[in-house]
Formats: sequence, structure tokens, C-alpha cells
Amino acid sequence: VAALLSVITVRPFVRSQGQLLEEKVRAESANNAKSDFLANMSHEIRTPINAVLGMNEMILREGRKLQDDRNDAASGKESVRNIVMYAGEVDNAGHNLLALVNDILDFSKIEAGRMDLVEAPYRLSTVMNALREMARLRAGDKGLEVTVDVDGNVPDELCGDEVRIRQVFTNILGNAIKYTEKGSVRVAVGGSVQDGGKILLRFTVKDTGIGIREEDLDKLFTRFQRLEMDRNSTVEGTGLGLVITRRLLDMMDGKIEVESVYGKGSTFTVTIPQKIVSDETMGDTGTDTEDEGVPESAHEHRESFRAPDAKVLIVDDTRINILVVVNLLKDTKISFDTAGGGEEAVAKAKDNRYDVILMDQRMPGMDGTQALHAIRDTSGGASKDTPVICLTADAVVGAREKYIAEGFSEYITKPVDSYTLERMLQRFIPADKIEHSDAGSVTGNAEQAAEEFEGLRVALIDPVTGLKYCDNNVGIYRSLLAEFVQSMPEKSSHMRECFDSKDWKNYSVYVHALKSSSKMLGASQLSEMAAKLEAAAKENDAGTVEAGHEDMLDRYERTAKIIGAFAPRGGEDTDSGDVLEFEAGDA
Ligand code: ADP
Repeated sequence: VAALLSVITVRPFVRSQGQLLEEKVRAESANNAKSDFLANMSHEIRTPINAVLGMNEMILREGRKLQDDRNDAASGKESVRNIVMYAGEVDNAGHNLLALVNDILDFSKIEAGRMDLVEAPYRLSTVMNALREMARLRAGDKGLEVTVDVDGNVPDELCGDEVRIRQVFTNILGNAIKYTEKGSVRVAVGGSVQDGGKILLRFTVKDTGIGIREEDLDKLFTRFQRLEMDRNSTVEGTGLGLVITRRLLDMMDGKIEVESVYGKGSTFTVTIPQKIVSDETMGDTGTDTEDEGVPESAHEHRESFRAPDAKVLIVDDTRINILVVVNLLKDTKISFDTAGGGEEAVAKAKDNRYDVILMDQRMPGMDGTQALHAIRDTSGGASKDTPVICLTADAVVGAREKYIAEGFSEYITKPVDSYTLERMLQRFIPADKIEHSDAGSVTGNAEQAAEEFEGLRVALIDPVTGLKYCDNNVGIYRSLLAEFVQSMPEKSSHMRECFDSKDWKNYSVYVHALKSSSKMLGASQLSEMAAKLEAAAKENDAGTVEAGHEDMLDRYERTAKIIGAFAPRGGEDTDSGDVLEFEAGDA
């Protein structure tokens, strides 16, 4: 906020009477904008914080009740249901707060001229799927009819800043849903091919909402300006969304236009030139309005290239992560070398010439960034100048910029999606080592593949999700499960040691690894337990770690035990006699 305020500080000048008067009016209105902004912002920030505190109070009460009522199964179940509901509200409020802070950060970055675009190949179909999912969630309670219509002739693979494109689309569509109480919101995506291998993407959102007065249209893109505050006082917003949208579009050579009839609705149209990467169209990829919110990895996988002469080093302290990458890329015939930590990576990079290094960020001992610097500083090192791609679970806005500024060539968030990974490697492996092939090694559909793993649900594992992370490749999934079981005793004893010696730094690294390996199997609850402990350990919050440690370890060990006893054929029962506390249906 301080950064923002400095942006709207008004400097007085010595001028003639008329000019002085003009300056005075301008200064006053800037001051008013500042006061309105502060008042509005503190309201916006207090709303989610109140929700977090209030809901958490309810969680505490229910939790205490649960402690007393241990023997009464019916009221226990009721309390658990309430807790889940309150925690959902906390989650919602937390996300709203995060979105708000992100807007403020983005805005101050733009004002300070520190916002850069990061261009890379991406799939428009993935963007549209995410957008549909967002629309479904936000419009859900209102009963609005939301349709997303994509012209099948638009090329799917484009090059541009996917994150910012998503941000622009999300802002416009989010507003349409926010300011429409009944009726419909219709999105249309089309484009016209231009010279130089480009397309002018057109994204139109038409709503039947409150509309905008003609005299207010100019104010739409003014910072901190929200229209009709008396009418919209219950609608969350900062008045920054459209300003950010407009500036981002300026940076991308795009445009935004608005037509509106007050009381009837508005139409926002955005056009952005994007480079075309391949001629495959949205129609070819089968993206249509019925294809609601399917994650990228659930689509059929088509191997896109081979590089048998390429050498890639994968660095990760969690063997499961290495297994995933190696297996996802098996068909590319790339030759892989692995390192289990920063020190080992530096040593290997000194003696071997790799084409690409995939580097995990959080590892015990030397972390990814330190390893990167050490590799670059090794004089005479064989891989001194090799591109290093950062793999991290750190997905907050600005994370990418941070890692790129550290010197990483690129950044991929975990859990890794095979398409992004392949694209990334294709970019960095020297072109003469890449052989393109259209022959598709198509793997099946998630639901079918998951059938034989249905029995894992007693361990609160959702095999459909797990398989999606493995590109629905049953073999990969099986090897991940085996690795999870095999590594458990050693990992859990590391966690116990760190816990006993209150070594929170390394503790956080171990639970961090568990967070991602369990998520990848589809054990989302275990993953969440680990995530909470990781966050607490990072903050040196011993109380929270102590409160959750035993439960998490117990869940971890039992999950591994059930997987170990599980014979993945036709849903045979596990004979371990061990079933996790909750019914799978509660998960
Ligand atoms: P906010 O965070 O307040 O939504 P924006 O910058 O996104 O901020 O929008 C600025 C103002 O423009 C909003 O406060 C609202 O009054 C108006 N507005 C934006 N989109 C719409 C829409 N689809 N229909 C009606 N009014 C809109």
C-alpha cells in the first residue's frame, strides 16, 4: 500500500492563479481518490480477515465439542461436517485476500515499470478449460447461465505470456459474473489470422448485468475508481482489476473495448495479437463447450518429439518426483542422469555435459538456487552454461520472476504436467538433437485406467487424480506407488529425527517432499496434512507442528502400509485389515 500511495502523491508547483486553482482541484481529487482507496481497501481487507477469524472460532468450538463428545458417533459426524464447512469458508476468505494482495502487488509493479512479459508456448485450450472451471465455481450459487463458445478454427498452440493472458480473461469474465445477478454471461473466443504467423485473438464477454452509465465509461480504467459504490457496496472489488487489465493489454499490444446499456448489460471485447506455434486448431483438440474443466493432463497424451542424443540431469531429493519425470518422458528416448541433492548435482554438472538440467528448488542441504549458482561458478565445469529449469511448488504471483532473476532459464510448477515439460525441453534441447514424430503413443482415459486401482480408496487415495498426473499411464502409476511404499520407513524416520531434535528447517523439507509425492498419488488429504506442517515448520511454529505431527505420520505410515498390501488387479480387497478412519466417501 505504501508503494501505491507514493504513486498517487501529488507534487505542488508554483504557477499562475488559474493554474494554481487547477492544480488545487486536481490535488484534492487525487487526495480524495487516496482516501476513498484507503477506506475501501481497509474494508476489503477486513472482510476476509473477519471471515477467517470468525470461521476459525467456529472450528475451534466444534473441535472442542468433538473432544468432549468422542463417544457419540452422530454428533461427532455433525461436528466434522460443520468443521469442513467452516474450513471451506476460511479457504474462500483466504483466497479472496490473496487475490486482493496480488492485485495490489501487480499494480505497484506496473506503476514502477517492473512488470515484464514472459513469452512461451502454451495451449489456448488449457487456458479456456481453466476459465470454464473458474466460471462454474463463481457463477455456481447465482444460477447464471454461463456459456463459453470457442471457434474451432482458432489455432490451439500459441506463444505469449500465458499467465497474463489468463489474468486478463479472468478479470473480464470475473467482473461479468460479479456484476450480473440474473440472466446470462456469454463468452466467445475467435480470431483472425494476420501476417507474420500471428493471430489476433478476440475474447468477448457479454453479460445481462447492471450495465454502466455512459458518463461512467471513461472512469472504468481509472485506478481505484469503482462505480456506483452505494449500489455495489456489497460486491467485493478494489477498482484495480480493469486498470491492471488495460495496462497488461498495452504491454501485449492488445486492446479493450466496452459497450454497455445501463440496466441491461455490458459487452467487453479484448483483442490480443499472439504468435501461432502450430496449425493444430482448437477443433482438432476437441475442445468444445461440453468439455468442462478437464485438466490438461486428462486429455490423450501424444508424444511430440524424440531426442535420443540429448542428455538431461534431473535433480530432486524425492525419488518419486524423479520417477515421474523420467517416466513421463520415457518415449522421448532422452538419456537421463539423476542427482538426489544440490551437492551431487554440482559434482555431476562439473564432469558431464548436459543439454538441460531440471532442478528442484527445496532440498535438504544445498537448495536449487544455491546449486544453480555453484554450477555457474564452477570454472571449467562441463555444464557451466547449460540451461537450468527450476521445478518448484512455489506458484505465487511473482515466483517465476524471482527464479528467472536468480538465473534460472525457466520455471515449472509442480505437480509437473507432461505437456509443459515436453514443450520446455523442446525449447532448450539443441534443435539438431530433436526428431519430431507425429506417431501418437496414446494412453487411455483416466476413469478406465483407474478401475484396477479402485481398492486404493480405502487409503483415501483417489486413483483417477493420481493417474492424471501420470498421463494415465498405469505402469508409471504402479511404480510410483511402489516407490512410495519402499521409501516410507526411511522418510518417516528422518521426519521423526528432525521432529525430536526440533530441526524445523529440515523437517519442513521432508514434509514438503511428502506433500508433493502424496499429491501425485491422489492422496490429497495426506498431502494437505503435510502442507500444513510444512507451512508451520517454515514459520518455526512448533506448537502447530507438534499438534499435527503424530497424526500426519500415522496417516503416512498407514497409507503406505495399505498400498503395500494392495494387489492392483480387478479391485481385490486388501487383506491388511487396515482402513483409514474416514469412509472414502467423506474424503
Ligand atoms: P472491481 O475490483 O471494483 O471490480 P474493476 O477495475 O475490475 O474493479 O472494475 C471497475 C468498476 O467497473 C467496477 O467497480 C464496476 O463498477 C465496473 N464494472 C466492471 N465490469 C463491469 C460489468 N461487467 N458490469 C457492470 N459494471 C462493471
